[in-house]
Amino acid sequence: MKTPLLDLFLPRTCIVCGRTLLLQEREICIYCLSDLPLTYNWLLTHHPMADRFNAMIQRDLPSAEYEPYAYAAALFRFSSQALYRRIPYALKYSGNLSGGRFFAEMLGRFLSEAPHLKDADLVIPVPLHFLRRWRRGYNQAEILARGIASVLQVPCRADLLVRSRRTGTQIRKAVEEKKKNVSGAFSLRRPLPEGVRHILLVDDVFTTGATLNACYRVIREAYPAVRISVATLSVVG
Ligand SMILES: [Zn+2]
Repeated sequence: MKTPLLDLFLPRTCIVCGRTLLLQEREICIYCLSDLPLTYNWLLTHHPMADRFNAMIQRDLPSAEYEPYAYAAALFRFSSQALYRRIPYALKYSGNLSGGRFFAEMLGRFLSEAPHLKDADLVIPVPLHFLRRWRRGYNQAEILARGIASVLQVPCRADLLVRSRRTGTQIRKAVEEKKKNVSGAFSLRRPLPEGVRHILLVDDVFTTGATLNACYRVIREAYPAVRISVATLSVVG
């Protein structure tokens, strides 16, 4: 089999283990792909990640109010010890956009088989503050959102929700502190397109869910009748 010319100069390597990829492999070698810790939680309406997210939503509500259960899904489990952490890191810190698109499309294909998620008619990425986006050159959540939207064949809008306040780094913040830190950081800059019924909010990693919850609240307050689900590349825990 002929090696593509580009591979001779710039060998493509596995995003996880670094092994040189075979011609048929894309972004990840078959060994790492076969061990990828997929959650399969898109197959279920209720599961621990979604329960965690919904507990957070309910906690923020006045006691008499009730929110319908929000659906959630993540492609794989994140562990800071496992080499698979390199997938979100490569997208976020090393500008590996093709890797991000590859895994976003994989997640999109799984979501398109989930009856409770495949009817999403608009995909919205969790925004970065414009200064951070400008410095990084892209928003990693938007790369993922566009990949998912292309598979679901629905629009992706990165211009509706904005991060109006910088929230600093989230690392090593306690859950309550982190929640306080992100609440009020987001706002809707434009109205949703007419006829939207089910929004899929997309982020790279689901840790506490505080950031996604802050985005959820902003959309929910303006659009009480729209269903909002969340999807991420990976989930911690
Ligand atoms: Zn590998």
